[in-house]
Amino acid sequence: MPIYEYRCLKCGEVFEVIQRFSDKDRTQCKFCKGKVERLISSSSFQTGIFEAR
Ligand SMILES: [Zn+2]
Repeated sequence: MPIYEYRCLKCGEVFEVIQRFSDKDRTQCKFCKGKVERLISSSSFQTGIFEAR
């Protein structure tokens, strides 16, 4: 299952969410219920750097 990272635009918290394909995108911070944006997964980002070398 894919893991998505979200960052809250309100409190700045970053948290990971394991999502099934059938799940809807998370749009609320789990801490303050503020609006969140989805980040690129840090694990795939690091893999990209490694492959670039
Ligand atoms: Zn928040």
